[in-house]
Amino acid sequence: MESLNKVLLIAPCGMNCGICMAYLREKNKCPGCRGMDTNKPVTRVRCKIKNCEVFQKERAKFCFRCENFPCKNLKHLDARYRTKYNVSMIENLEYIKKLGIKKLIGNEKIKWACPECGGIVCVHNACCCNCGRKKI
Ligand SMILES: [Zn+2]
Repeated sequence: MESLNKVLLIAPCGMNCGICMAYLREKNKCPGCRGMDTNKPVTRVRCKIKNCEVFQKERAKFCFRCENFPCKNLKHLDARYRTKYNVSMIENLEYIKKLGIKKLIGNEKIKWACPECGGIVCVHNACCCNCGRKKI
């Protein structure tokens, strides 16, 4: 079963790649935004946030380190996810900034655990990737 323990699964924008459909699927599995580009969907490879010049230059780990935080691109992404999936990358980043990545990952593990089997619930389709149970 997949686990949400990896720090590297938290993308620079604050997205938890571990709950993403592209990561959880079995075919053409995406390694997460911080992984190699080889198996990533095109939208991820071309991501404006991960490829952001400031971000690359500063070699920052997360967007909150940036002087433009939260920038236009991040705000767009955040608004889309808040509306569609009820999650906020900016909130995640604020949380990491304040309490650290380990704490965030601990919370995420509880938040996205399937009550039926303990598998991971996908943020995009709200289904457990292990048993298929739909989150209510
Ligand atoms: Zn399940």
